[in-house]
Amino acid sequence: SKTSDKLSEFLESGVYRLEDSNAVFIDPVRVLNRSYTRFRVSPSAYYSRSFDSKHAGQEARVSSNFRKRKRKEKKPQPLNDRERAADQRHQEVRPFLLKAHESLVRATELLEVVSNLKGNLGPSTSSPGAEQSLVELGRVWQAPLYEITLNFHPNDNAREDGGAPTIQYCEQPAFPVFNNLVVNETSEDVEAELLNSRYILPPESSFYMSDLGQIHNLIPAESDCGFNLIVIDPPWENGSARQKQRYSTLPNRYFLSLPVKQICHKDGALVALWVTNREKLRGFVEKELFPAWGVKYVATFFWLKVKADGSLICDLDLFHHRPYECLLLGLVHGKVTDSKQLSSTKPKLPDNQIMLSIPGDYSRKPPIAGLLHEYAPRLQRGRCIELFAREMTAGWISWGNEPLHFQESRNFMKT
Ligand code: SAM
Repeated sequence: SKTSDKLSEFLESGVYRLEDSNAVFIDPVRVLNRSYTRFRVSPSAYYSRSFDSKHAGQEARVSSNFRKRKRKEKKPQPLNDRERAADQRHQEVRPFLLKAHESLVRATELLEVVSNLKGNLGPSTSSPGAEQSLVELGRVWQAPLYEITLNFHPNDNAREDGGAPTIQYCEQPAFPVFNNLVVNETSEDVEAELLNSRYILPPESSFYMSDLGQIHNLIPAESDCGFNLIVIDPPWENGSARQKQRYSTLPNRYFLSLPVKQICHKDGALVALWVTNREKLRGFVEKELFPAWGVKYVATFFWLKVKADGSLICDLDLFHHRPYECLLLGLVHGKVTDSKQLSSTKPKLPDNQIMLSIPGDYSRKPPIAGLLHEYAPRLQRGRCIELFAREMTAGWISWGNEPLHFQESRNFMKT
């Protein structure tokens, strides 16, 4: 039947197009696993924050505190200009979010699979022991000396006579791990070692691990070697990131000097920027940041966060704690003369597209590379980069001060 076709497509792809709305449900684990060949992303590691009873309890407490505080401050304060603007933005998108959520609630076959997620997580794979802080490692004086070893196909070394495998050192090259483009150019996952930790690099992926001060090294020598798709998730300053101290943040003015214009392909690029719900930030992006980067705003996508039972992670109308985040999309126009041909082959970017998923680790965004692909100029030979990345994506370059963070082997299972 038609519906079960849809479900089996979801089980394959991790993406379910919801009926009657401009929305898709995403299972990040299934999406990510499409590109790994010898490993699998461990669902229990990906969803550890959602299903770990300790963390789940914390979230619940936070939101009930909010409610209590709200109840106490009953005296309605008049909204100031900025709050009114934020509220208006929220009211405009609210019907789309509600409709998307209603479609999810109606997609019972999907919810049945998703709500079983917890039962199907399997044994927790995350091993005890502290994870390696790449940011701290990059700050010590020895940083330029640290090397990462790539182990290409260790099994291929097994001897045909059944003897012990011989280790061929030529297949375990080592590269400087900081301020250097490290590439897995093979179509297989590669295991890599750095000090005492192991990392899994997806096929045809690269990373450049450095501080912002070195980002100019990404600027290509030739403009036809630039990027057609650029995803950026900056460490915006905000109360929550500072409080939880998961990563350090930067003042807005630092992002004005990101070389977005300089890394774009000469045929143009699609730029996707994650922003928080602070109204002040939205104004900054629209009036200063996009103009400074040469980006023309086109559309906004929304990431609506749900629990495994399909309910929203918090009330839709909490003023200081929304269950959604925004992805602002813009274009850097290319220098092509044949613009008619270009626009006729590309689907127009829809506005207010909604992506629903169960959140993973703190601030980890759902994998949307595939969704964005179809809207980027010059798709066939498109080059893609993620800035401030904490993970790697097949076919992409990841830049940031910890692009290997979620590649640590504790997040994977061997197939
Ligand atoms: N998109 C990521 C994800 O889904 O997991 C989250 C990115 S997080 C919002 C911002 C990242 O920027 C963090 O990994 C943080 O360590 C990094 N960062 C902060 N300051 C930086 C700097 N000066 N240079 C490079 N990266 C920096």
